[in-house]
Amino acid sequence: MSTLPKIAWIGLGIMGSPMSENLIKAGYDVTGFTLEQDKLDRLAAAGGTAAKSIAEAVKDADVVVTMVPASPQVEAIAYGPDGILENAKSGALIVDMSSITPQTSVDLAKNAKEKGIRVIDAPVSGGEAGAIEAVLSIMVGGEQADFDEAKPLLEALGKTIVLCGPHGSGQTVKAANQLIVAVNIQACAEAVVFLEKSGVDLTAALDVLNGGLAGSTVLTRKKDNFLNRDFKPGFRIDLHHKDMGIVTDAARNVGASLPVGAVVAQLVASLRAQGDGGLDHSALLRSVERLSGEKPAA
Ligand code: NAD
Repeated sequence: MSTLPKIAWIGLGIMGSPMSENLIKAGYDVTGFTLEQDKLDRLAAAGGTAAKSIAEAVKDADVVVTMVPASPQVEAIAYGPDGILENAKSGALIVDMSSITPQTSVDLAKNAKEKGIRVIDAPVSGGEAGAIEAVLSIMVGGEQADFDEAKPLLEALGKTIVLCGPHGSGQTVKAANQLIVAVNIQACAEAVVFLEKSGVDLTAALDVLNGGLAGSTVLTRKKDNFLNRDFKPGFRIDLHHKDMGIVTDAARNVGASLPVGAVVAQLVASLRAQGDGGLDHSALLRSVERLSGEKPAA
């Protein structure tokens, strides 16, 4: 009989599926719920238990991990008669790993407390590959004791796990992360088009660039996407659009000016408006191609 906490996992998408499987591999008993039947089947095949509802998934759980797209989905799974707060045990800990607005995390922690349920915000960086390899960076907001309780579980999912401050702080740091990643991808995309139009061997150029100060995890992880024009997500433009909205809004609230971030937010929005919202964020390359008079591959 496992002495590890019993886990409910809500949201088994690109990130949630491999992450929950890493918990199963680490010996945790995981019961999951998500909207797609094939993802529930995948969880069961990996050794977890597929639930028919959020209520069924969370009723016996010590820890409820959530990994859904954005604030409206977090509110939908948390609140209401069928939600987590009504159906989880008093004393349970919610670990919300979705990337959402800091205010939604603050409100969730406050509402959960009234039910005797604790919450930490624990968004992640590292993408699908980081989720599969269990090397995510996990930025946490909440109480020290709850962070300490969640840490062993988070160590089965990631490598760099840091308590950043009170509720919502993890989300604020994640917003900064998304700003840096978007600007970095845009710069790489501009370099790719510039190099190609200049007739330089792109593979050689990106290899040597990645060994110097211009190198980055973005370039390492996205190089093949650029080279092969492979924009299968990964991290969807739709989600990065959501995150650029979060960082722009949060920065405005504290009086921080993000001029380059604002431009890149517009480029992400424009890509989405052109029908590329379902592609990986490395598809920012397609915008640069269009701006440079090229026709992106279909
Ligand atoms: P996804 O769209 O692939 O998966 C989201 C999952 O949430 C889906 O399986 C869906 O069924 C589930 N869901 C939505 N509403 C639900 C509901 N009401 N009840 C139950 N399940 C519900 O998204 P993803 O790429 O896995 O991203 C999840 C979160 O992680 C987002 O906040 C995203 O910004 C963040 N994130 C993603 C990546 C990445 O590379 N994909 C990296 C870091 C962080």
